[in-house]
Amino acid sequence: MVTTHNLGFPRIGKHRELKFALEKYWSNTISQDELLQTASILRKQHWQNQNKLDWVPVGDFSFYDQVLDMSFLLGNVPKRAENLSDNEIDNYFRVARGRAFVNESNRTCIQASEMTKWFDTNYHYIVPEFSQETNFTLQAQRLITQIRQAQEQGVKVKPVIIGPVTYLWLGKSKDKTNKLDLLDSLVKVYVQLFDELTKLGIEWVQVDEPILVTELELDWQVAFKKTYDTLANKSIKLLLASYFGTLQDNLSLACGLPIDGLHIDAINAKYEVQLVIDSLPDDKVLSLGVVNGRNIWKTDLSATLLWLESIHQQLQDRLWLAPSCSLLHVPVDLDSEQELDSDIKLWLGFAVQKLEELSLLAQALNQGQASITKEIASNINAINGRKYSPLVHNDKVKERIAKVKDGLGNRQSNYKDRAKLQSEKFNLPLYPTTTIGSFPQTLEIRQARRDYKLGKLSVEKYTQLMRSEIRNCVQVQEDLGLDVLVHGEPERNDMVEYFGQQLSGYAFSQFGWVQSYGSRCVKPPIIFGDISRPKSMTLDWITYAQSLTNKPMKGMLTGPVTMLNWSFVRDDQPRAATCLQLSLAIRDEVLDLEKSNINIIQIDEAALREGLPLRKSQWQTYLDWAIKAYRISANGVSNETQIHTHMCYSEFNDIIGSIAQMDADVITIETSRSDMELLDIFDEFDYPNEIGPGVYDIHSPNIPSVDSMVELMQKAEKRIPARRLWVNPDCGLKTRHWDEVNLALTNMVLASQQLRKN
Ligand code: GLN
Ligand code: ZN
Repeated sequence: MVTTHNLGFPRIGKHRELKFALEKYWSNTISQDELLQTASILRKQHWQNQNKLDWVPVGDFSFYDQVLDMSFLLGNVPKRAENLSDNEIDNYFRVARGRAFVNESNRTCIQASEMTKWFDTNYHYIVPEFSQETNFTLQAQRLITQIRQAQEQGVKVKPVIIGPVTYLWLGKSKDKTNKLDLLDSLVKVYVQLFDELTKLGIEWVQVDEPILVTELELDWQVAFKKTYDTLANKSIKLLLASYFGTLQDNLSLACGLPIDGLHIDAINAKYEVQLVIDSLPDDKVLSLGVVNGRNIWKTDLSATLLWLESIHQQLQDRLWLAPSCSLLHVPVDLDSEQELDSDIKLWLGFAVQKLEELSLLAQALNQGQASITKEIASNINAINGRKYSPLVHNDKVKERIAKVKDGLGNRQSNYKDRAKLQSEKFNLPLYPTTTIGSFPQTLEIRQARRDYKLGKLSVEKYTQLMRSEIRNCVQVQEDLGLDVLVHGEPERNDMVEYFGQQLSGYAFSQFGWVQSYGSRCVKPPIIFGDISRPKSMTLDWITYAQSLTNKPMKGMLTGPVTMLNWSFVRDDQPRAATCLQLSLAIRDEVLDLEKSNINIIQIDEAALREGLPLRKSQWQTYLDWAIKAYRISANGVSNETQIHTHMCYSEFNDIIGSIAQMDADVITIETSRSDMELLDIFDEFDYPNEIGPGVYDIHSPNIPSVDSMVELMQKAEKRIPARRLWVNPDCGLKTRHWDEVNLALTNMVLASQQLRKN
């Protein structure tokens, strides 16, 4: 018999119940009991959703983040947040979110822990902190309570935890402590935990070690060996789970560990499956992640079964089936969707549907395909419908792609020659000032967009309202004395959704929310077909804005790589191919803007870095096609047109060569929070073009002083000649208030004036 299980279920609830409960609790609108109640109902519901599986994950539920839960379970709580109150949940939220200074008498402010991306997903975890004083102690009450609840509900419980090696790897040493020095004491706590779990009658525990899909240094490989030798436990069975990629060099390490079962990502590492079967001792279970946990497409059941048949024959009862990774990264339930095109809806599956697929696959293997004839037939229908659908395929797009030549992404001249022409044309002062695009999105703006979407506001009225916002925004910038203006982006709810909604090939769900961090969720658009641009997407707004001023108006676009990285992407062609289609659509927009005398155009690539593969050895391939796509979108313009790009981070030391290859005339980046330290790379790397290192941290309500900004720019000047520097904020201003923005930008303009004087 084939066994089915799940690695993790999304915890936010199909209508984001957890998000709303958390936010109400944080704002004191509900009590802690009410919050706990919501959590308990959600868990019950989710176990119910998984009740056809042989093993159900428990411990995957979290109020904020599963890595932070692990830190609490291991008693590894940052000192600053220990014993703040007797209330464990409040302490937990304080580590996650920090606490602002409230008043002198009783409240100290607490710094929130650092947050970073969970492997190559858009989920962010709270980074564990380590130091010489780190001392682990088992605090398993939360997990034990959840296990008991599940057992009472008759669930076949398989606790899910993060393995010790990955846990250490994910954290950060706050002093010079070598993280691996903590391994022995950490593993002891895991031994205690397994003893506790055994007492609860647990048979299997899933231990996540996703770092097995990354390139591991020798000491980390040794750590695996050492750890699992110690953990090899007679009374509880360990299922070691790797996901998000291939094992490659770690394959024999993983197969040789004294564990009871191994889970691998059979979507990304399909070609490794036979190798693993051959390497894994034959008393061990092999769990194959055959349903994609990172995407929203229906599984091709008959193709998967065809492939699984021989594997089943080899493994028999040792074969387990699961999604490729936790379903945390997909929305909860497709059945909630009422507005998706009915054809497209047929092609999709969210978490609930993915588990149904899993059960069907197991049933077919266990009882023969005849037992699911009907389901297979309708699955084939959906799969073929998608494969041949005119919604997906657009011959014009394919013809255009086939004609793309290498030179398409080249500017007419090199930067030096362009810079001369541009400086004559724009005649900008030294240290020109600009912003990144958006201005505060007030309640009125949001309301207007909402009403328009609901049909409560006519196109005329809406246009009028947006134009008056643009007028106001341009006037403010004129008054402030900024050099290159923007229209303020009032018409955009989101930098990807705004463009996606105007492109063919994109679909939008109503409830397709995925957790990004804490109570924050995102709803990635779905790229289902060939991308084309029926008509201009920004021209009317930008040209209107330009008509209001004699200063240059910067046209604002989102770049192809960011469009791709923040969407659910089709799986029937390589990502690079989809990206190229996007780049042609954006290119058309760029050229339309240029034709209408918009001579400065910014193409945001906020998410370029996020697409980097987990293995460094694969970075260059990604960068090659991503940079090519960006270049095609941006570089079709004449020498006099100035291209800007913006990135929301500045850790690009390791990709600086590729950034330079984008050949943007100006690049604006986030740097203020790092005190310009991030510009150190420019000591070694001679970045040829212009750069605007953000001097105003827009993530904070603080108003930066003139002096602080001058100082930051002076630091920048040490690495980049003044004539190639711009003065601008870190990122868009949409989350800030007008009064803050006015003050901060006033100072920013003063800073630039002072720099010019010097
Ligand atoms: N132009 C966008 C804005 O200003 C850029 C946002 C971003 O980089 N995330 O809002
Ligand atoms: Zn940004």
